[in-house]
Amino acid sequence: MNIPFVDVGRQYKNIDKEIIRVVKDVFSKGRVLQGEKITTLESELARFHNLSYGVAVNSGTDALIFSLRALDLPPKSRVAVTSLSFVASASAIVNAGFIPVFIDVDEYYLMQEKKVLKLIEKNKIKAIVAVHLYGQMMDLKKIHSAAKKKGIKIIEDNAQSLGATRFGKTAGYYSNCVCLSFDPTKVVNAYGSGGMVLTDNKKISEKIKMLRYHGHVGNRIYKISGYNSQMDEVQAAIILEKLRYVDLWEKRRIEIAKYYSNELRGYLEIPRIKEGNKHIFHKYALRVTGKIRKELMDYLLKNGVQTSIHYSLPLNKQLSLKLFALKKPLPVVEKYTKELFSLPIYPELINREVEYVCRKVKTFFSD
Ligand SMILES: *Cc1c(COP(=O)(O)O)cnc(C)c1O
Repeated sequence: MNIPFVDVGRQYKNIDKEIIRVVKDVFSKGRVLQGEKITTLESELARFHNLSYGVAVNSGTDALIFSLRALDLPPKSRVAVTSLSFVASASAIVNAGFIPVFIDVDEYYLMQEKKVLKLIEKNKIKAIVAVHLYGQMMDLKKIHSAAKKKGIKIIEDNAQSLGATRFGKTAGYYSNCVCLSFDPTKVVNAYGSGGMVLTDNKKISEKIKMLRYHGHVGNRIYKISGYNSQMDEVQAAIILEKLRYVDLWEKRRIEIAKYYSNELRGYLEIPRIKEGNKHIFHKYALRVTGKIRKELMDYLLKNGVQTSIHYSLPLNKQLSLKLFALKKPLPVVEKYTKELFSLPIYPELINREVEYVCRKVKTFFSD
């Protein structure tokens, strides 16, 4: 058996005809930037989140940076963010000119709600980057109502949780902006880089449109100093094609996760699903006590199963971010980052492979 951790090639084999057709279509029309596929994708994803505006950009990272910049926060504002995420959740705050305030996580691997509420109450933050990690949403209801009273802004980092819901609602209900990523590893992926901001606020959407292309407002007038962060028309066409498979892919991910959890409960610390959540399992992350993690990962690799770690360091300990770390330790993320590892999970895994992974984990523990 050879089970890679991610395999974009397998996905392609199932949909190659559709992909080639839309690629040909875009290339033969000749409009490769800011065309109709971009605007269609923007409105489809806005509608999916029950929001009015979508702005496609070149990456999830840019989506976060532009969102932060479009909210008109005072200079040097403090922005709360989880300490367990991909680095971009926090580096975007720094790159937008603000200061990350790292928060510890709960048993669902999500930012601790109580800590955020406390920071709001004590007027310590001006914004929150709420990361919906691994495929499930954090609870923003209380945070949103407390933040709203104080004019504190909320950005949802939904790079890993497109399609997830909380009590039936997608991201976008309790925030100012939602950010998406179409990185090749994500649930709906481009063949390259891509991202999007979704919002109900026209002004924010217009500011982000300016930021993504040199502050252009038409007729060669450049109102603010912006960037060049466009999504390729061909990527938009591809993503639109893939969106037709979201439900199917999501179902299969959930099915695989259920199988893993049923089989591995008792051997490993399986992921918990918060009540009311539809977890779409972008990642299937489990925990195993410190020393055994490396042994187990090595054993699985030797048997053809590639695993990974999300994430091996708290963000407040990354070289690029540690100057923003508070003195107070964050014990939960500290412990979890030593124990977490992720099993391969993608819709194209066949049952025989999923069973094999579980069997190998069990053999490891019984030997
Ligand atoms: C992937 C990811 C990003 C960044 O998206 P890119 O498209 O890679 O720039 C941000 N936040 C989280 C949680 C992610 O997983």
